Amino acid sequence: MAVVGGSVAGCAAALALTRAGAGEVVVYERAAGALHDRGIGLAVHKERYAELEAAGYTDGSMPWVRLTRRTWITAEGGGHAGRLLGGVPFPFRSYAWGPLWSALRARIPASVAYVQGAVVERVVPAPDGVTLCFAGGGEERFDLVVGADGYRSVVRAATRTPEVPGYAGYLAWRGAVPGELLPEPRSAWPEGEATTVTFPGGHMIAYRIPGARGEGVSANWVFYATPPSTAALASADPTSLPPGRVTAELTEHHEGIVERYFPPYWQDVVRATPRSAAAVQPLYDLAVPHYGQDRLVLVGDAASVARPHMGGGAVKALQDVVVLERSLCAADSWAEGVRAYDAERSPSGRAVVDLARRLGRAQVEATPDWAAMDQRTVEDWWRRISDGERGFGGHALERPAP
Ligand SMILES: Cc1cc2nc3c(=O)[nH]c(=O)nc-3n(C[C@H](O)[C@H](O)[C@H](O)COP(=O)(O)OP(=O)(O)OC[C@H]3O[C@@H](n4cnc5c(N)ncnc54)[C@H](O)[C@@H]3O)c2cc1C
Repeated sequence: MAVVGGSVAGCAAALALTRAGAGEVVVYERAAGALHDRGIGLAVHKERYAELEAAGYTDGSMPWVRLTRRTWITAEGGGHAGRLLGGVPFPFRSYAWGPLWSALRARIPASVAYVQGAVVERVVPAPDGVTLCFAGGGEERFDLVVGADGYRSVVRAATRTPEVPGYAGYLAWRGAVPGELLPEPRSAWPEGEATTVTFPGGHMIAYRIPGARGEGVSANWVFYATPPSTAALASADPTSLPPGRVTAELTEHHEGIVERYFPPYWQDVVRATPRSAAAVQPLYDLAVPHYGQDRLVLVGDAASVARPHMGGGAVKALQDVVVLERSLCAADSWAEGVRAYDAERSPSGRAVVDLARRLGRAQVEATPDWAAMDQRTVEDWWRRISDGERGFGGHALERPAP
């Protein structure tokens, strides 16, 4: 069996297939270089984390930072750190992406071949097997292929329902500030607080994450806004701009909003961000009708892409894999296991994407009059848009983990 993609979902899928009794498992990862330093911070609902830990996909060894409250603030009528509009409980843990990937990679048994620098160009399903065709030539045939190859999945493209993700129309600027560069006074940003700095047409959320190499803390921020109409996004189907490749136009747009609408403390946080730690990601929506078809299975962002406002993309990817393992273990055949997986995960993928779209609409595309809000209106508004918190941070796994 093969897994295409060796990121969060791919590493976990290799583990799931092995646990479900697959003989030979090969992971093909396009990136040839180090993966552990990709990504920045990640917030995970503490109950979702406990479920994943119980299922044996994570453990307590990774460094994390406890988050307790999410607040919304405005510069209007506020002091150095802005004026508090309101807050809600935020029972999350934050992690750095690198240690999460490294921990999952370390869990893959030695019997699995993890091949880097292998670009799968085409996937050709047939009734008796699936052929993977590689860039530069070469083919391999497998009984089952798991697509863990992200939002532009080539495995998804080979299914009978090859949906493509739709650009949401706005971007996420992301950055991280090492703890020692955070501005004074430190008391301006309470410990455990995920702070949302509001402005017309968007917001920035910031929370502390474990520092690089597991020491101290860093600040992780994600700023959501629509690009200027003239922005050089290159196409109607834009791709990510990694650190060092963010265009001057997009940087100026971001800095202009920060200067105009942010309280001084939060302006300083953004300005303290090393240029090498700032990236831009366009946001997409995708929900496929089927997570599993015949000999093809989709997990993680290959199956569904939810805007990051619901703080559960990595959780969703790992939950897919937990359910895949359980479905395959409970079935008498691989085909039956794939059908059971599809029946359980397809509806939950759609629910998460719908919720994330609603959260994006309320916090970016059609922002309220932020400055007029107070604790009561923030609570009411949040309850309304987050579905009473039911799905925020990822829905609970409906059945106990295997
Ligand atoms: C701004 C932002 C903030 C986020 N914040 C959070 C958060 O706080 N909490 C949270 O839980 N989630 C968050 N997410 C979502 C989370 O990062 C993703 O949902 C999750 O990492 C999905 O992982 P994946 O393994 O499915 O896909 P990816 O990480 O995209 O991995 C796909 C892998 O496949 C490889 N690949 C692709 N094509 C091929 C090919 N043809 N051949 C071989 N290999 C291939 C790629 O190199 C890559 O390694 C956020 C996302 C964004 C954009």
